[in-house]
Amino acid sequence: MKKSRKKRRHKHIAKQRLQRLYTLIQGWENAGKREFAQNAADHAGRISKRTNTPLPRGLRRRICRKCGSLLTPGRNLLVRCDKKYRRVVYTCRGCGRKAYYPYVRKTPP
Ligand SMILES: [Zn+2]
Repeated sequence: MKKSRKKRRHKHIAKQRLQRLYTLIQGWENAGKREFAQNAADHAGRISKRTNTPLPRGLRRRICRKCGSLLTPGRNLLVRCDKKYRRVVYTCRGCGRKAYYPYVRKTPP
């Protein structure tokens, strides 16, 4: 069945808000305002869950799935390559959750 107009509209708004939050987070991170950035990240996670909207590209791997903290390499995120399984391992230093991402896939010629 076709999605109702209201639902689509909500998703559109959610997308815009997530994008806006993402830019805010980047700005606050660069300015060293960690708390602000973390708050915005929490908010973004909630919006994404509630509206079933994917997070913006750059934010997807930056929020811990378990504890919801904003991950910054060198601060609370450990990034390692797993040669055996050809994947990158992201370890959250807050809760220890590991996330695995494949090496970049080969693009067909
Ligand atoms: Zn975590």
